[in-house]
Parts: sequence; C-alpha cells; structure tokens
Amino acid sequence: MTVVTRFAPSPTGFLHIGGARTALFNQLYAQRYGGQFLLRIEDTDPARSTDAAKRAILDGLRWLGLEWDGAPVYQSDRLERHAAVAQELLDAGGAYRCYCSPDELAAMREAARRRGSGRLYDGTWRDRNPAEAPEGVAPVVRLRAPLDGETVVDDAVQGRVTVRNDQLDDMVLLRADGTPTYMLSVVVDDHDMDITHIVRGDDHLTNAFRQTLIYRAMGWDIPAFAHIPLIHGPDGAKLSKRHGALGVEAYRDMGFPPEAVCNYLARLGWSHGDDEIFSMAQAADWFDLKDVGRSPARFDPAKLTSLSAHYIREMADGPLADMIEPLVAGLLGAPLSQTQRTRLRAGLSGLKPRAKTLADLAESALFYCRPRPLAPDAKAAKLLDDAGKARLALGRAAIAGLDDWSAGHAEAAIRAAAESSGEKLGSLAQPLRAALTGSTVSPGIFEVLEVLGRAESLGRIDDSLGRTAG
Ligand code: GLU
Repeated sequence: MTVVTRFAPSPTGFLHIGGARTALFNQLYAQRYGGQFLLRIEDTDPARSTDAAKRAILDGLRWLGLEWDGAPVYQSDRLERHAAVAQELLDAGGAYRCYCSPDELAAMREAARRRGSGRLYDGTWRDRNPAEAPEGVAPVVRLRAPLDGETVVDDAVQGRVTVRNDQLDDMVLLRADGTPTYMLSVVVDDHDMDITHIVRGDDHLTNAFRQTLIYRAMGWDIPAFAHIPLIHGPDGAKLSKRHGALGVEAYRDMGFPPEAVCNYLARLGWSHGDDEIFSMAQAADWFDLKDVGRSPARFDPAKLTSLSAHYIREMADGPLADMIEPLVAGLLGAPLSQTQRTRLRAGLSGLKPRAKTLADLAESALFYCRPRPLAPDAKAAKLLDDAGKARLALGRAAIAGLDDWSAGHAEAAIRAAAESSGEKLGSLAQPLRAALTGSTVSPGIFEVLEVLGRAESLGRIDDSLGRTAG
C-alpha cells in the first residue's frame, strides 16, 4: 500500500503554528514511507473562507518547505460529487430524508437532554413512509446510523477509542438546500483522494467516529487515524495569540529561518531519542506515528529563538548573505551596490554568532552598508568629543601607513600606538568604533577595519574628525 497523507486546512485565517505542525507531520510520514502528501483546501464555508487566507496558507507552506504533491484540491469544486454520494446512500437505503421542522428538532434536543442521551435526533423519519412527507418542506438527508453496538477507532496516537453507537446521531449528510455537510465532504474527499492515513489535531477525534460510520455505509476502506494532541502554551492552556503564537508568516517576517521553524515544529509532540537539532531529511528518515506523544506539547518561544540562532550560526556565509541582502536593502531603503554587497558578505561571519534572527542580523550588519557620513548614535557621539577625537587621530596616524590592511596588522599598530602614548587600548579602540560603526556595540574593531577596507575606514574616521578626505 502506498501511503497517502493530506493536510486539509479551512482557509478562515492564516496558517498558524498548530496547522503548520500538522502539515509537517503529514509530510514527514509520507516521506518516511515513500508515499504522497496532498493538500486539500476545505473552503466550503463561503462566509468564512477568504482568498487572502488561501494565499497565506499556500505561501506559509511553501516558505516552510512543506511542498505538497500534485495540485491542491479545493473542496468547494467537489460539492456535486459529495451530493452524489448522499444520493447513492439514499438509493441503497443507507440514508433517508428527514422532514422535521426546526421546532420539532428543538423539542427532540430538549427531550434528549432531559434523558441525558447523546442522541439528539430521535429517528422520527428513519422508518416513516416518505409518502407522509409534509408538503412544501425541503428535507435534509440523514445517515441511517447503527442503533446498537459500538464504533471503534484504532488511533495510531490515542490508542483504541470506543463509542457506543447509541451516542451517535443519524447525522445530516445533505442540508435542505442540497449542500453537503462538512462531515460528508471530508469523507468523500479523503476516499476519492485515496488517503491512507489521516493525521490531524485531536479536536477532530469525535469526528472520526461519525466519519467511520459514513465509510462503513459506503463500504469504503477506512483510513488509519492519528489524532495528535493540540499545542498548548507555557501555562498549559490551549495555544492562542495570548501566548505570542502567531501565524507562520509572522515568524518569517521576524526573520526566523524556515529550517529552524521546521526543526522546532517537529519536536512539538514528536521525539527521536534525545535529538533536538536535525534536518527535515533526517526527520523524514526517523518519523513515525508511534513516537508522537499523547500529552500536549508546550509552545516555547525561547526554544524557537535558540534554534533560530543555531541555524543562523551554522549557515554558510554565501547563502546567508543572499537572505540578508534584501533585508539590509529594505532597512537602507535602496538596493545594495557591489561594494556594499561584498562588505556585507565579508562582515557576516563576525556578526552571525550573536544574531537570534535574520532580522537581528540585518540590523547588526547595517553599519557596513550605510553610506558616509554615518550619523553616530547618542552614545557614540559622546565618545567623539574633543578628547575622543584626539585619540581617534592617534589611532588614524597609527594605521594610515599600513601596507597590509588586515585585522592582525591593524591591531598590532593600534596596540603599539597605545603603548607609546601611554593610553589604554580601549581608549583608542572606543572612538575608533564610534567613528567606524556609528555605535558603541559592534564586532571586534580590527575585524571591522579589515571588512571596511582602507579607503572606507579612513574616510569614516575623517568624517568624524571633521576633516575632508585625504
Ligand atoms: N479543515 C479542518 C481544520 O482545518 C481539518 C479537517 C481534517 O483534517 O479532517 O481543522
């Protein structure tokens, strides 16, 4: 059997962290068994589905590398097929038309509540002669569900879960206006898409019983179910915006590398020994549903941030520069010149060990690309008072004549100048940093000198000294 999984989001909002994790688990499971991972957009509720949400879901999945196989299936394209299945069930006696009025249904629900029964519909039209149908009433179509016995779901995560059939209603399959209900649409689509494994949030576990009854009524194979515990916030409550959980696109905009987000999501509820940091290729080799835990995973933004820092540190400078360049250009408000690009790339290795996100990194690299003259921040400006400028001039004199413009030579020259003038190294380095970076925090100042190069370094120093170039 070829494994076929699917992610079936309702496009009523952005792709949130929980949805992305569900998609990831489905993809990993399909990859592990050489199967297929399909995407179905459940857009049958026109009042709540938006095009913006559809786009956000597709973009979010692509950004995370959760590419699906084939074209996405849009549930709204398939309503006729769903209705045709309801008709098949009607023809075969597995479903029937129900003509109850809203008032009758309300009274039944009330009676069921009083009895403490989960069966809210009393089966009035189950065996009644359709010839008795009231005139002018459009009926709904209901499933003729078994009245006794049990329905069992052998869930790959939750274990064996059983419900008594007398707790399950003759559910509505087609509404009075002929449109299929969600429960019917899901089953027909999963069947037609040849889904073998349904991996989704455990808020759908109760649906699995009802869906099982529809599969049975149609004589279709029932897919394997795996209901994964929902994600909770650090306080143990179901994850929400209150916990700082945002749509996937917000993590992209904050500058989290997608590899870090995927690695983080994979560990939310699934584990492979003590492995914490791994690629999605490794995860696809290891992933199995039996290793998904039964208790809810807790969302921990600090852990996501530390993974993000890790991936940034480990990234090669070339690809990292490609990711950072547009961000720096955005901050500058102009595309980068070739010189700026070269400088940025050379400066990254010294900056990346301290960055938590790509946005952080772009911010910290900005000074390499700023055009002269730099506007120093308040603290840096303070270091460039008259005494500071005098020490800056000393430093300039020490390096201006260097033949070899490298961090090592610059350091040796500045150290020698500090010693011979009786200054501490820091007293020369601080105004230098302020002049070269416009700030009081930066990577090692000798590295900055090397990355900027002779002309730019001396130019920035001269700007601070109030001299014209030369
Ligand atoms: N469309 C449902 C949701 O977004 C998922 C249905 C399913 O996975 O069966 O929650």
